[in-house]
Amino acid sequence: MNPPPGRLKFRGQAGPAAGHSGSGGPCPAGPGAFPAARPPAEAAPSETGTEKLLLFPEKLASLRRADFQSPDPLYPVSVELSLTNRCDLGCVYCSDSGIRRGPDLFTPALLERLFDDLAAGGARGVVFEGGGEPLLSPLFPEAAEACAGRGLAAGLITNGLRLFADAAGADSLARLQWIRVSLDAASEGQYASLKGRRGYARALRNIALLCSLDPRPAVGVGYVLTSRNDDPALLRELGLTLKGLGADYLQIRPVVDHPELESRRDLSEALADLQDGSFSVNLAPLSDNLPVGNLGLPCLAHSLSAVICADLRVFVCGRLNADPSFPPMGVLGQGHGEGFGGIWRGEGRAAQNALLLDGAWCAARCPRCRMTKYNRLLADLGRLKTPDFI
Ligand code: SF4
Ligand code: SF4
Repeated sequence: MNPPPGRLKFRGQAGPAAGHSGSGGPCPAGPGAFPAARPPAEAAPSETGTEKLLLFPEKLASLRRADFQSPDPLYPVSVELSLTNRCDLGCVYCSDSGIRRGPDLFTPALLERLFDDLAAGGARGVVFEGGGEPLLSPLFPEAAEACAGRGLAAGLITNGLRLFADAAGADSLARLQWIRVSLDAASEGQYASLKGRRGYARALRNIALLCSLDPRPAVGVGYVLTSRNDDPALLRELGLTLKGLGADYLQIRPVVDHPELESRRDLSEALADLQDGSFSVNLAPLSDNLPVGNLGLPCLAHSLSAVICADLRVFVCGRLNADPSFPPMGVLGQGHGEGFGGIWRGEGRAAQNALLLDGAWCAARCPRCRMTKYNRLLADLGRLKTPDFI
């Protein structure tokens, strides 16, 4: 159910402080301090990219020390968490359709225990995503609250069709650091053709509501490019609409696992000039996410993230979890690895680490994957012979 606009919390209305960190406060070093370097005013906002690794130097050093016998012991930077396998859409390219046959097994107590474990172990963030549609889970508001209470940053990937009917629901959205709406269409017709029902206009209305939240998470739009939604003129119109609504970015990535739907349309000319200081168009995944087999490189980068499914299975990565022949590292609440830490440092992960660090194994088994760009960077670092110089 969608809320009437007046019932969400909007910018300018009074409300509790957000769980996410703000910006724009006074410089703690005082007015005479040397000013921090700033990007040019026109620089577009950036939410993804390999440069993010620089924010986690300890993690980077730890995963570079990992080898076949010794997995990186530090917790992942963030985890991808599914609260539910239910979804109100039927996208033709849904890569989680197999996973979504499982039951929803999380309880509030299990979530609390998981977040305690992640926060104590040093994880920084939790992304609520599919499996199914996170906002269909009755646990979502509580889960967002529980993350904030433990200092875990939270993000949300949603189809954007259903927000919340009350102020508590709006508060839980405003606690997030970022929200990405998977729109994947530039017209109502494309939407129905790809997702099985109409919903384009409603999703756009809800994006506008999300952009009005106070505090305001970063709000972006994800777009899986296929041969059915790659019209450059319509995409340009969509970009202009999103700018008008106040969204921060449009991220376009290639369809995976459905070669019959692939598009190689060049969109750069149609979209490049939409970027400005408050809106970015990210086309990098269209090339970064294309290689299969992880370029034959070892996958050190798997350790940056982990996937926790709604049926409590914990996977080493968000692509092999859809491969029925690849087992989970463990199941929360079962066996020795009862908690996340036990699974992360347990035998199941150790065995999979040995596979994933073998470039030949990755070449044979890895589908297209967003982690390949990190693995390419790590391989480049590993080739350096003169690490003490710039
Ligand atoms: S909205 Fe997401 S989870 Fe639902 S069918 Fe589409 S891709 Fe799958
Ligand atoms: S699919 Fe391969 S490259 Fe991607 S995270 Fe999994 S193991 Fe790594």
